[in-house]
Amino acid sequence: MAIIEFTKKGIYCPEGGFYIDPVSPVSHAVITHGHSDHARKGHKKYLCAKKSLQILKHRLGSIQISGVEYAKNITHNGVKISFHPAGHIFGSAQVRIESKGEIAVISGDYKLQNDGISTPFEPISCHHFVTECTFGLPIFRWQPQSEIKKEILKWYNTNLSNGITSILSAYSLGKAQRLINLLSDEIENMYIHYTIADLNEVIRKSGGKLPQLPVINPDNPEELEGALLIMPSMAAEANWVKKLKNKDTAFASGWMQVRGIRRRRNYGRGFVISDHVDWPDLNKAVYATGASKIYPVHGYTDVVSQWFRENNLECPDIQRTPLTREE
Ligand SMILES: [Zn+2]
Repeated sequence: MAIIEFTKKGIYCPEGGFYIDPVSPVSHAVITHGHSDHARKGHKKYLCAKKSLQILKHRLGSIQISGVEYAKNITHNGVKISFHPAGHIFGSAQVRIESKGEIAVISGDYKLQNDGISTPFEPISCHHFVTECTFGLPIFRWQPQSEIKKEILKWYNTNLSNGITSILSAYSLGKAQRLINLLSDEIENMYIHYTIADLNEVIRKSGGKLPQLPVINPDNPEELEGALLIMPSMAAEANWVKKLKNKDTAFASGWMQVRGIRRRRNYGRGFVISDHVDWPDLNKAVYATGASKIYPVHGYTDVVSQWFRENNLECPDIQRTPLTREE
């Protein structure tokens, strides 16, 4: 019996009788992190890394869930399960499963860059490694976080000196906290959308350190003049934002490396900052596991499979579940 199988419902461990990040309802779901394309409603029982527990409850409501500390083993139907830092967002984890001496690691979403908020990624030795490849093309290469910080500060300071409000769109879970952590020491007049403030509170309860920042009040646009506003992209399209005079918009995402995407979405600026591995780090991560069987999922799976096959690693043909990405 294989240690993992790729099924319509997601990645399945037949011996343990559980799924990892399943896409349709199952009895036992092991969840890597709180993004909605990995953590879905409708499962009977949930298991996650302890640091993710409050986030999952916040997003999924009343669910039956238990959290396990990073690196602590639990056994389910004779299969050992443990969670290890994935460095993607606060609480994110790789899932390691072991049965009869065979080890598989399902990395969920991950990155190797230390963002200052997530527990940094740890490579885990295994035989089977499931890797995401959201940005699995050689063109994707990230700058150090410190460089992006300089770019954002330059943009903001130029806007400030011209009395322009800087609106920075970012995913509310993950990217927003990373930006807050990166910029809050440098920028005094920084405001956040209430959905981000709610998540920050949940992360604080889970042991994360984030500063208290004022929440954007759309009824008082005068106080936002020249400020930096961090908000999800949907919120940035609200009518009150459209009515704001003297504003400049930007989006912070790995996709901003693709110029056409930025133009189509009408952002004045794009900052290339991602919570996923770039091409060099994807390679580094795969080789660090020592795995002989690699299973690319989510993204440029064909390119990545071909690349590793050419480099003498095995990429078995698998059924992949279509995903809509949250990031
Ligand atoms: Zn994610």
